[in-house]
Amino acid sequence: MYEGQLKYEGKAKRVYGTDTPGVVRIDFKDDATAFNAQKRGVIEGKGAINNAITAHLYPLLAEAGVPNHFLEQISATEQLVREVSIIPVEVIVRNTAAGSFAARLGLEEGLPLAAPVIEYCYKSDELGDPLVSDSTPIAMGWASARELAELNSLALAANSFLLGFFSARDLQLVDIKFEFGRLPDGTILLADEISPDTCRLWDADSGERLDKDRFRRDLGGVEDAYRTILKRVTS
Ligand code: ADP
Ligand code: MG
Repeated sequence: MYEGQLKYEGKAKRVYGTDTPGVVRIDFKDDATAFNAQKRGVIEGKGAINNAITAHLYPLLAEAGVPNHFLEQISATEQLVREVSIIPVEVIVRNTAAGSFAARLGLEEGLPLAAPVIEYCYKSDELGDPLVSDSTPIAMGWASARELAELNSLALAANSFLLGFFSARDLQLVDIKFEFGRLPDGTILLADEISPDTCRLWDADSGERLDKDRFRRDLGGVEDAYRTILKRVTS
């Protein structure tokens, strides 16, 4: 019933068609990549964990006023979602300096930011998802000015909800990457996944990193960190 043509294979997921028009099946893989896929590996159990975390968070985000593609989890590693045409702009929201932002500005990681910072990257594997200015998506026709304003407000709303959600589970949401897409009628939905692959989560007490930085930086304990996040998210 859920067979269907492979439509796209990415670094972390496969997207398949279904019998229902407008619905696709996403299969989450254990494969992990970093630094524009120069570093590759497998995080045992990651596919199931990221599927479960995303399936838990998206209905809550919908209730919180962030419309998204999620329909239903159908197996340990699979979910059905509404098919969208992905806007090729990653919207990054940062609450605390870390990663490339901290490096670019010469900041110590962990510095709190006075307000959330929004950054945009052009979704292009060949170019390594380069940072772009906020006028570039409009100039390039990736999104209209109105759509970009909507991406901003949806990203900030999702960030604000998730900050509180994670904080109640002793997790600091340092930063997060969102992807959005359009339905055929132009409606914008939050798409893709929310997982330790796509955000930085630090233990609120110890500051311990519980996200993909453990893989990127060879810190060890990657599987345990992902399992900890799943446990806290679903607690
Ligand atoms: P990537 O290697 O590009 O990060 P992933 O392994 O994360 O890819 O695979 C998921 C792909 O499917 C991404 O390109 C993502 O933009 C796309 N995608 C996510 N949600 C949807 C959706 N609802 N409809 C169509 N495509 C989607
Ligand atoms: Mg991806």
